[in-house]
Amino acid sequence: MPRFGEGRGLPYPAPMSSGTPGETSAADAVMDKVVNLCKRRGFIFPSAEIYGGFRSTYDYGPLGAAMLRNVKEAWWRSMVRLRDDVVGIDAAILSPAAVWEASGHLESFTDPLVDCRSCHERWRADQIEGTCPRCGSTDLTEARAFHLMFKTHAGPVEDEATVAYLRPETAQGMFTNFANVLTTTRKRPPFGIAQVGKAFRNEITPQNFVFRTREFELMELEYFVPPADAERWFDYWVHERLGWFTDLGIPGELLRVREHEADELSHYSKRTVDIEFRFPWGWGELEGVANRGDYDLTAHARASGQRLEVFDPATGERYVPYVIEPALGATRAMMAFLLAAYQEDEVAGEARTVLRLDWRLAPVQVAVLPLSRKPELEGLARQVLSMLQPSYQCDYDVTQSIGRRYRRQDEVGTPWCVTIDFDTLDDQAVTVRDRDSTAQVRVPIAELLEELAGRARRPELNRS
Ligand code: ATP
Repeated sequence: MPRFGEGRGLPYPAPMSSGTPGETSAADAVMDKVVNLCKRRGFIFPSAEIYGGFRSTYDYGPLGAAMLRNVKEAWWRSMVRLRDDVVGIDAAILSPAAVWEASGHLESFTDPLVDCRSCHERWRADQIEGTCPRCGSTDLTEARAFHLMFKTHAGPVEDEATVAYLRPETAQGMFTNFANVLTTTRKRPPFGIAQVGKAFRNEITPQNFVFRTREFELMELEYFVPPADAERWFDYWVHERLGWFTDLGIPGELLRVREHEADELSHYSKRTVDIEFRFPWGWGELEGVANRGDYDLTAHARASGQRLEVFDPATGERYVPYVIEPALGATRAMMAFLLAAYQEDEVAGEARTVLRLDWRLAPVQVAVLPLSRKPELEGLARQVLSMLQPSYQCDYDVTQSIGRRYRRQDEVGTPWCVTIDFDTLDDQAVTVRDRDSTAQVRVPIAELLEELAGRARRPELNRS
């Protein structure tokens, strides 16, 4: 097994596999370093920090907001834009009780809560195996169902009629708009409706940085299929989703698929698998793929009195399609991409920290760096910047030595630095430096866009 920090090895050793104390602490150290990097460089800040913070709530800073957008954009591109069988929607976050009554969430969207009688900490019973992780006591209360939805009132009167909920998943927006989408797009199964947006769950134990928070962003697809084809499409989507992660640079060794046991299944699910990621503290759910059957459309049809069915021209009959749902947290995915990309290596005898992010996810894709503040260099550098900005997320930096600027860009995952020096004034060429190999090549300004496009099309060349 490669040691942490060694060349192109995995970012951290398997924490659960060996049980060697030294390895576990190396994994913990990586987690600390990534959390620290996120704060120090403006990826993720604790929310309301000037008031002492608000537990488990985070704000995304300039680099974090840019990277989160890239994660969502990469998902939307692969799930909606490059497909003609999926359309996107953007439904309301605030929804009436009727939706959650029909979907079964009011009754079933709970986690089992236990209290430790010794230190009074609260835990999710299914996550602690009978022992309080804080004080080690086994004197726990009986588990009771704790409801995870955030409840509020819409309008000035706080009575039963005005009760509303913040959505705990985006999926219901796809089901309640099913008939609207059918009539406006004329899609027929197999087809999908996708959505990206905020979701809220009053988690009992939010933990591990942005892994589990009470407010988070979800990227969900509801893919409607004839019931007889559901298993085939289920396998298709598990395969597709694994490919999405590896295409964006997560090594296959950090991913695995875990089938849910029957007693683990959500109230709506016929079958679920988790795509798990090897987080520093062990394997954990990254994305869930569920076969929700016809549970949701049938429930909403019954409760609303509307027909939520499709017509099968082959049989001349109407039927309720089954739905396959890949559901991924954008914020959790961003954390996995950051952890998988984190490396420490040596360049010319000097230690450096580098995020080996795929260029599509990097918050800064090209850094434009004039060697000095001399007006003639800055003038030319700004022209190069304007040329690149429509195609790439750029940073412009004139402070500090060029070596330090390269390190700062490496640390936030910038794949390419473009340096404008005094020779540029004569030869109209710039130096392009690659983050991973640190190799530098001279490129005429007139060919710079083409050069970068070539590198972007062939990311594997930049990862070696
Ligand atoms: P768990 O049992 O771990 O609470 P879940 O199985 O209820 O999670 P799903 O309903 O399958 O989670 O959610 C789909 C995806 O949404 C998850 O795979 C994860 O990426 C993301 N997700 C769920 N809950 C949270 C959360 N509290 N914070 C961040 N992301 C979350």
